[in-house]
Amino acid sequence: MVDVLVVGSGISGLSTAYRLSKAGVSVLVCEKEEEIGGNIRTRSEEGYLFEEGPQTVLADGEVLGFFKELGLEPVEASPSSKNRYILRKGRLIPVPLNPVSFLTTPLLSFKGKLRVLKEFFIPPEPKEEESLASFVRRRLGEEVLRYLVQPFVSGVYAGDPEELSVRYAFPKLYALEKEGGLIRGAIKRRTLGPGGVLVSFKGGLKDLVEALSSKFEIRKENVVLRIRKREDRFVIDTRGGKVEARAVVVSSPAYTLSYLLKDLSWSAAKEFEDVDYPPLAVVNVGVKGGSVPEGFGFLAPRVEGKRILGVIFSSKIFKGRSPEGRELLTVYIGGATDRGVAEMKEEEILEVVERELKEILGVQSFDFAKVKVWKRSIPQYKVGYGRFLDLAEEVEREFKGLFLTGNYIGGVSVADCVRRSKVVAEKVIRFLEGS
Ligand SMILES: Cc1cc2nc3c(=O)[nH]c(=O)nc-3n(C[C@H](O)[C@H](O)[C@H](O)COP(=O)(O)OP(=O)(O)OC[C@H]3O[C@@H](n4cnc5c(N)ncnc54)[C@H](O)[C@@H]3O)c2cc1C
Repeated sequence: MVDVLVVGSGISGLSTAYRLSKAGVSVLVCEKEEEIGGNIRTRSEEGYLFEEGPQTVLADGEVLGFFKELGLEPVEASPSSKNRYILRKGRLIPVPLNPVSFLTTPLLSFKGKLRVLKEFFIPPEPKEEESLASFVRRRLGEEVLRYLVQPFVSGVYAGDPEELSVRYAFPKLYALEKEGGLIRGAIKRRTLGPGGVLVSFKGGLKDLVEALSSKFEIRKENVVLRIRKREDRFVIDTRGGKVEARAVVVSSPAYTLSYLLKDLSWSAAKEFEDVDYPPLAVVNVGVKGGSVPEGFGFLAPRVEGKRILGVIFSSKIFKGRSPEGRELLTVYIGGATDRGVAEMKEEEILEVVERELKEILGVQSFDFAKVKVWKRSIPQYKVGYGRFLDLAEEVEREFKGLFLTGNYIGGVSVADCVRRSKVVAEKVIRFLEGS
């Protein structure tokens, strides 16, 4: 019998397993796929080093400390990565980074800017539940929603601001309104942004997966089929046979709970199926140098009528990602506002990408292209999302020793998953000590 069985080897599962094994707990990780890392998928082909999942980690002191503990040396994004662009009327407009550039930017009309400044005088009216779109319309106006917030939401969640909950998807914005308003809060905190350093590693994010996975046993291609409770232990059916454990940490996506939990709580298992993970295609392309501006990338607001959501200038952010004289671009298409991408053939996706990159960047052709379609990408923290968080707590309360984690609880970023693993590992250790 092991102390803890961890279901799933994404960043949530691996970092929790690492912290547990470091504390002397015996851990076994079971992973469905033949490859570990979950959404983290770094590839190296034809001289390009590219990511099919997350590109960068926005790391604060705690996350940087964790990397250091693992013996990793993060590589910071190039200084020019602070330049980000938004497409307006077919042109790439820099996102304003300070009050002066905000006043002069062509990204918003004069009326749109005045509406933003009015926010200072709008009294807080925090609602328990509200969509991000409604929140932004109320506080900052329609233009900011269309040209700043909507594209930003595509960049983080591949999501739709009309559906996402401001409270659960953007808790910092929700808190700022409670503190008196967004501009007031930004002045007080000296920033509206999330803060932190944007990093990856020399070999891409797979370096993080490799550093974590050398510390405990992982059984690959060993899907977990169901979890049952027997008095003081859990009996877990896996493809490779039965495993007994004192505790179980489930870090696989919410939709897998529908079969994992069915013997424990049928109603909870069914309910977690409702967490929405829209499809998303990630297309890495190699293009001739000289056609790509210095910067992080650009986002395309839906009102601009393009199909691509945005492009990351990957080889401008980190050195060594493309062969000499070439650039690597990572293009996103699909998400909650364009679910049809799941049914598109690779050639159709590439056609769209080629046409739109030509229109926007003047890129003529690719010497390299790789399409990855995530049928279910990032969980959408929609209005009413609190019910899933309450349910997760209920399940943990009812089945002592069972812990739920993953990017559908408490933040989708890699950094959120790393930070949450500390909290989860501490809870598991408290349980093991008390049982
Ligand atoms: C395309 C894309 C781009 C992103 N970009 C960024 C970014 O730039 N920066 C950022 O911070 N975040 C980004 N994210 C979000 C972030 O990558 C994810 O939220 C995070 O990696 C999720 O980690 P996880 O461990 O919670 O889940 P996952 O990575 O989904 O891992 C879950 C694991 O469980 C396994 N599993 C499932 N069912 C079973 C079973 N029954 N038995 C055993 N194993 C099972 C799966 O195979 C998988 O390996 C991006 C996400 C995507 C999809």
